[in-house]
Amino acid sequence: MTIGLDSSVISTHYWHALDDGRIQCDVCPRACKLREGQRGLCFVRARQGDQVVLTSYGRSSGFCIDPIEKKPLNHFLPGTSVLSFGTAGCNLACKFCQNWDMSKSREMDTLADAASPETLAEAAVAQGAHSVAYTYNDPVIFMEYAMDVADACRERGVRSVAVTAGYICDAPRREFFAHMDAANVDLKAFTEGFYRKICGGSLSPVLDTLEYLRHETDVWFEITTLLIPDENDSPQEIEALSRWVVERLGPDVPLHFTAFHPDWKMRDKPHTSAATLSHAREIAMSNGIRYAYTGNVHDAVGGSTYCHHCQELLIGRDWHALSKWNLTDDGHCRFCGTRCAGVFSGPPGHWGRRRVPVHLAR
Ligand code: SF4
Repeated sequence: MTIGLDSSVISTHYWHALDDGRIQCDVCPRACKLREGQRGLCFVRARQGDQVVLTSYGRSSGFCIDPIEKKPLNHFLPGTSVLSFGTAGCNLACKFCQNWDMSKSREMDTLADAASPETLAEAAVAQGAHSVAYTYNDPVIFMEYAMDVADACRERGVRSVAVTAGYICDAPRREFFAHMDAANVDLKAFTEGFYRKICGGSLSPVLDTLEYLRHETDVWFEITTLLIPDENDSPQEIEALSRWVVERLGPDVPLHFTAFHPDWKMRDKPHTSAATLSHAREIAMSNGIRYAYTGNVHDAVGGSTYCHHCQELLIGRDWHALSKWNLTDDGHCRFCGTRCAGVFSGPPGHWGRRRVPVHLAR
């Protein structure tokens, strides 16, 4: 429900009143306790009167058509394009944030573009995008808008992709992911210490999200870990992470190990070396992960998909563009017939690596 004259401010329902007069937001484990006029850490949710509202409904920091591989999703409609957008703010405070201009924005000016769910879904159809991605900052903080966009997209046969850190409480998690078709979940590290010290959050709710997605939904998801030198890139940590994934989620969930570049409040670390990424990929595969990737580097081997049964090349990739395709239309290996995990529908798309800004009507 819109509040007042500003159509970007709407009511929300994951909050409760505390005895001391404050109101606690129950969307994410941050559990912000707000007095009148205060905003949560995510900036876009705030207390107005006797409730918590979302202040950025229908507002965006911009729209772009990307390859789906850029999310990154390597097993979800490969080669197709995705209409990407985000808003402002974030519910984690990662010192290494690679999208800090949007996620750390405290200016509503960042949200200069406006689009109703219907306008956005129509734009995706008009642009030939197979899906819409809620990305750049975490969609759980603007879940009401993301879910309405997803519903408008579903009516038009366009799918929805959440790019998220998975830092969300149980009830909103269930509601949010019921509207999504795919997700890339950032598993930022595999220690509580990293989440507490570097992100201002905690690991266990993220693991809960991953188990929930795997065991209670049909949402296709892949996991990304940005490897930061000397922070989360030790072989022991990659070993523990990949073992946990195989044991708790199974061998078919793809893992992406991506390269860090110095940014935001972490400029004293070097770029991640290609060798570190390749080593992480090898550790994951030796622990039984069937599809492990390197990312943010040119690595034809680490960026491609191989049959876990006969080891033949299934999907060749150069950066985000497809170079080889050896799958049947329903995702089976052309050499041995083994199914490749993922969502495949006919021949691959031909979007390539292009990134095209889109301007929607205000
Ligand atoms: S969603 Fe935002 S306001 Fe709500 S608990 Fe998380 S950071 Fe705080």
